[in-house]
Amino acid sequence: MVMFKLCVATIIFFVELFAYTSAAYQGKFENFQEAVKKESVEDKISKYLKKGSEVSDHFLVTENQLFMFATKIDKLNKNPEFVLRFGSRQAPKFFVKKSLHGLRVAIDPGHLGGRMAFIEERFVDMSLPDNTRIQFDEGTLATVTAKILKQYLIAVGAEVLLTRDEPGKSVYTLSFDAWCAKSFAITSDRDWLDPKKQQVAIDYLKNHSPSFMLFKSEAPEKRLTSIIRAQDASAKVVPLKKALFRLCYNSLDLNARAEKINSFKPDLTIIIHFNASGGAHDISAADYNLAFVPGSFLDGELKDLLSREEFVRLSLSDDIKESVKLSRAVVKNMEKMLNVSTMKNSQYQPNGTIFVENGIYCRNLALTRLVHGPICYGETLIQNNPEEAVLLSQKDCEIDGVSVSSRLKNVAGAYFQGILDYFEFNGQHK
Ligand SMILES: [Zn+2]
Repeated sequence: MVMFKLCVATIIFFVELFAYTSAAYQGKFENFQEAVKKESVEDKISKYLKKGSEVSDHFLVTENQLFMFATKIDKLNKNPEFVLRFGSRQAPKFFVKKSLHGLRVAIDPGHLGGRMAFIEERFVDMSLPDNTRIQFDEGTLATVTAKILKQYLIAVGAEVLLTRDEPGKSVYTLSFDAWCAKSFAITSDRDWLDPKKQQVAIDYLKNHSPSFMLFKSEAPEKRLTSIIRAQDASAKVVPLKKALFRLCYNSLDLNARAEKINSFKPDLTIIIHFNASGGAHDISAADYNLAFVPGSFLDGELKDLLSREEFVRLSLSDDIKESVKLSRAVVKNMEKMLNVSTMKNSQYQPNGTIFVENGIYCRNLALTRLVHGPICYGETLIQNNPEEAVLLSQKDCEIDGVSVSSRLKNVAGAYFQGILDYFEFNGQHK
C-alpha cells in the first residue's frame, strides 16, 4: 500500500514536472494558476466549448487540475502538455473602461470584396421578378460599414484599428496573385492555362487543404473533383483559383488579421459580415441578424497546439462571457435599428454551432478562436433577400466621396449603439 502511494506520488510529481518544463504554452497562463475554480472551467467547456466528442480526447478535468493533451494516446498515457491547478486566488480581473475616451476598438471588415469578390465567392448577382439585375459584394459592404463605424467611434474619443480599408486588398502581406506567383510561379493568364503549372497548384491543394470543412460546398474533395473533371485547361482555371483561395490563401489572410488585431491589444473587437442564404444567384425569402462568439470546437479542431492554447484561454478567461454580452447588445440594436428580426432558431447550422441564446451562437471560426478579448462576429441581414438586396445596393449617400447605401449607416449605427450599451453609456447615435 505504501509502495502504491509512493508510486502515485511519483507519477503526479513527474506529470507536474513535465508540464512545467514543457515548451508548449510558454507560461502563457501563469496568471490563472490557482485562480480559477473547477466548476467555472467545467461550465465553460460543457456550455460553450465542446461540440465534437473527440474534443474530450484532449482534456481532463480532475478535482484539482485541468490537464491538456496533444493526442488521445497522450491522454491514455497520462502525458499532459499543460496542467492548470484550480484554486481560489484572486483571478485576473476583466478590465472595463469607464470612459469611451481611449477605448481601443479593432474592426475587421470580412472578406476582400471588389476585384476579389468573384474568386472569394462572396457576391450577390440576382435578377428580381421585374428583371432588375442587382450586383454587389459582401467585402465592399463590410469595408464601407467599418469605415462609418470608425468615424462614429473616433468622434467619441475611441482609438480604432481597421484591419483593412480598401475593397480587394488583403491583410496578408502578399496579394492572392503575388502568393500564386511565389507558390506556383504562375504570373500571368497564360501561366494559369499551362497544364504543368496547373498540376503544381493542384498538388499543392492536395497537400495543404484542410481535411474537414463544415459546408459540403467547401469540401476539399468536392472542389478537387470539379477541377480534375473540368473538360480542358481553360475550364480548370476558375475552380482552381477559387479552391486555392478558399482552402489555402484565406487562412493566411485570416491569421494575418488575427495577428494585427491582437498586437493592437483592443478592449473589444467587431468583425463585420453580411449574411446570405444559398448561392450567389439564389433568392432568399428570409431576413435576419445574428452574431457568432467563440466556442463550439468540433472533432479534429484541437489537433494543433495553437488551437489547444486558445481552448485553454477560453476555458479560463471571461472572453466568452464578455463576447456574449457585447454580441447581445449588438444584436438587440440590429433588430431595432434595421427593423429586421433576430434569428431565434436554436438549430441554426446545428452541425457547427452551439446555441447560446436568440441571435447568439458559438462557432469556432478562425477569428472567433484566434482573436483575444471580447469579440462580436456579426452576421447581419440576408443579402440575397430581394427587399434587402434593393436596400443594400442603393447609392443614396456618400462616404469618403463614394456613393453607398444608407442601409450601411444603419448597420454601423447598430454596432456603435451596441458598443455603447455594452459599456452602459447613454450616448445617442445620430
Ligand atoms: Zn461573410
